Amino acid sequence: MDVRSDAVVLFGVTGDLVSKKLFPALYELTRRGRVPSRVIGVARSPWDHQQLVTAARKAVTEAGLDLDEAVFEDLSARMTMLSGDYAAPGTYERLAGALADAERPLFYLAIPPAVFDAVVSGLSGSGLADRGRVVVEKPFGHDLPSSHALNERLTGAFAPESIFRIDHYLGKEPIEGLSLFRFGNRVFEQLWNREHIASIQVTVAEKFGTQGRAGFYDNVGAIRDVLQNHILQVVALLAMEPPADASQEAFQAAEAEVLSQALALSPETTVRGQYEGYRDETGVKPGSQTETFVATRLTIDNDRWAGVPFLLRTGKSMPGTATEVVVEFRPPDTTVYPVAANLLRFRLGKNDGISLSAQVKTPGTEVVAQTVELNADFDSFLEPRREAYERLLDDAMDADHTRFARVAAIEQEWRIVDPILDLTTGVQEYPQGTWGPADGETWH
Ligand code: NDP
Repeated sequence: MDVRSDAVVLFGVTGDLVSKKLFPALYELTRRGRVPSRVIGVARSPWDHQQLVTAARKAVTEAGLDLDEAVFEDLSARMTMLSGDYAAPGTYERLAGALADAERPLFYLAIPPAVFDAVVSGLSGSGLADRGRVVVEKPFGHDLPSSHALNERLTGAFAPESIFRIDHYLGKEPIEGLSLFRFGNRVFEQLWNREHIASIQVTVAEKFGTQGRAGFYDNVGAIRDVLQNHILQVVALLAMEPPADASQEAFQAAEAEVLSQALALSPETTVRGQYEGYRDETGVKPGSQTETFVATRLTIDNDRWAGVPFLLRTGKSMPGTATEVVVEFRPPDTTVYPVAANLLRFRLGKNDGISLSAQVKTPGTEVVAQTVELNADFDSFLEPRREAYERLLDDAMDADHTRFARVAAIEQEWRIVDPILDLTTGVQEYPQGTWGPADGETWH
């Protein structure tokens, strides 16, 4: 394995992602002795060291972590601030000076995509890209051509093995566990096809709205924010053929192959919604057609899945926050007992677990079925799991690509969503705190 990164540089250190995810992740990595000696924050804002440390402390506290002063001191002693314009070569000259003896710095682009070009040029022009690694966030581009262009831009500056594309769902333990569950349990492995499965539903629901970031969200929408990346990534893990072996190349090939067999989504089988009040939020364009909810039906055209709908939905201002997969099995062939179909449910967010609905006899003289849930709450017996961003930062510093998104899959994902991007009519309002427009319940 290549050497571990000996410096981390956070571009956009004043922003939302760094405070919500990256400071808490760095704090936890410090606790484990996994943070390099230099953590450099970069931003246009003229912060000093104290402001940087204060922001980090606030972020760790707000993430609900127990703040151990000794650990935090250790982290803050490693942190320095560098303020500058992303378009100015001087910014990168100063950065190169600060990284003079760093062998493999890791550059995390926690900045709006509009600034990627300037930063990649700066890193390239200063020679830093030659020895550095770069982490880019989803969404990768805005559509297929821009995703392609971003990839060209990144590979023009960094070695392919030094580029890490984050879809943080890949760093979540319960999601990573989907393929093991499928292929590691014979009872399910044998049933995982159209002969036994009637439908697969994937839901990513958020109880909250745009959280004061409507100006950003209005240019993105639910399809780009969640469906194109997180949900299709989950679909790939649920639907792929068994990889040839456990290598990342084999997984990559299996994922890309199944996504290439998915048909592009159709506006006719898609419902887009927008929660009431969204258009009144600051930064939202008048008459905006941006969806805060989408429900759609995906078809995978191969022997395993022909005729099995993948029903995908995501939305904001829903009744609750949850990431769930429901696998609906076909009813048994017997006509002796009227029974309901088995449902296998994966809870993939907080309080993760798996449950299977099963038919059992209702007490009494008649033999009548009723449904019970066979339920496993993983939190109650598995070790606490590490946060996705903590694992992914750790992996990127080790140059381990296993849990990062791959270009072939990303480009397939853009192809799949392309026909439903940027529709200019048809978004339906729904009351906040509901499961989206009424049509969203019946779109399939
Ligand atoms: P922010 O909008 O919070 O921006 C981050 C920082 O970038 C700001 O603090 C600001 O710092 C600087 N910045 C903002 N606009 C500009 C601009 N036009 N030109 C130059 N600098 C600018 O972004 P996020 O932290 O939310 O997101 C960062 C990246 O991560 C994005 O690519 C986003 O798509 C992705 N992402 C974010 C998630 C989140 O939860 N926030 C989740 C998943 C992905 P300053 O003015 O101090 O330079």
